[in-house]
Amino acid sequence: MTQPKRISILGVTGSIGQSTLDVVRQTDGMSVFAMSGHSALESLVEAAKEFQPKFVVATSQSAADGFDFGDLPAGTELLVGSHHIAQIASAPEVDVVVAAIVGIAGLPGTMAAVEAGKTVALANKESLVVAGSLITAMAASSGSRILPVDSEHSAVFQALQSGQPNEVSRIVLTASGGPFRDFSDSELKTVTVEQALAHPTWQMGDKISVDSATMMNKALEVIEARWLFDLPAAKIEVVVHPQSIVHSMVEFVDHSTVAQLSPPDMRLPIQYALTWPDRIAGVSPPLDLSRPQTLEFIPPDTDRFPALKLGFDVAARGGTSGAVLNAANESAVAAFLKRELSFTDIAIACQEILEQHDFIADPNLEQLMACDQWARQELAKWISV
Ligand code: NAD
Ligand code: MG
Repeated sequence: MTQPKRISILGVTGSIGQSTLDVVRQTDGMSVFAMSGHSALESLVEAAKEFQPKFVVATSQSAADGFDFGDLPAGTELLVGSHHIAQIASAPEVDVVVAAIVGIAGLPGTMAAVEAGKTVALANKESLVVAGSLITAMAASSGSRILPVDSEHSAVFQALQSGQPNEVSRIVLTASGGPFRDFSDSELKTVTVEQALAHPTWQMGDKISVDSATMMNKALEVIEARWLFDLPAAKIEVVVHPQSIVHSMVEFVDHSTVAQLSPPDMRLPIQYALTWPDRIAGVSPPLDLSRPQTLEFIPPDTDRFPALKLGFDVAARGGTSGAVLNAANESAVAAFLKRELSFTDIAIACQEILEQHDFIADPNLEQLMACDQWARQELAKWISV
């Protein structure tokens, strides 16, 4: 790498946060300036002991109350409350901010980092789903660079480097299809929380595991791609690829399709976002081509997985629709995890709430937050009737 990098990790206790620590462990010239965690405070303190950051933010006041932070290293300052996220995302000492908080709770940190002109290694796709137009405009004026951590978008980002932006005819996001890829309509109706949390190829947090199972994750990724790569929805496609080896592809106008392949391991896209434009000896294993294997590509079934269609609708429509879809989905997933909503009702509720909302084409942040609140209330009503 050209220079040592200091990073802030927002959401260090989660699946992406822990994989990021593994990348830092194995990559020379990288140090952790600050980190945040919400409720798994033992894990936050463990990470602080190992990486000796300048700041640790415990975002949940209630979880921090009564917790003994006595094991924090002497040189680490503890900050309690989510308002400190902006501080560690924008501190002058920080080179790269890893945005790895789940859901809309990640938005303030992403925005603070972008506003401060930081390089942002973005895992929190919900930020772009909710406020893609504001964030990309802000990045253009601050000079912030948003580098994808999502494996599909990292693949697209890598493939795009073999052509010019005006030479792209479409991008194809691959989807594992989730654990219920081959389930019938009636089998999908009885999916349990335990089944939904057991993903075949990726180890992830609960919310994204459920999103993968409904294929809402791919819907959110279509919207994420729309903003990250400034592409219309019509140039974005999804194909089911159960092996999760081809992480996505870009087709150029000459019909050459460039793909990125690697074993499914989030440490690779995380490392690429942290070291870009350099590549360094990989932390993730090589592709094993010494044994026969088959790569399948199957068109997605939007009848069985209606969530996917919502992603294309929202990517095409923009405005407040991303904030509404994201909030309806976050609330629906939380309700499913509490066994208050069935698996198939997640997408049905999201679609109905999207259809009912008062669309604003060019919303400001306040209007987006009002839509977020509205959609959460609508979901609560949807469950109660
Ligand atoms: P996770 O549930 O494992 O971790 C979430 C993190 O966010 C934790 O550190 C938690 O402390 C923090 N957090 C939760 N609620 C918070 C709140 N209200 N305020 C502040 N912090 C809060 O989730 P994950 O699987 O690591 O996913 C994180 C993000 O990365 C998500 O946006 C997800 O879509 C994205 N992503 C994850 C993967 C993956 O493989 N896990 C892949 C691609 C993208
Ligand atoms: Mg992904």
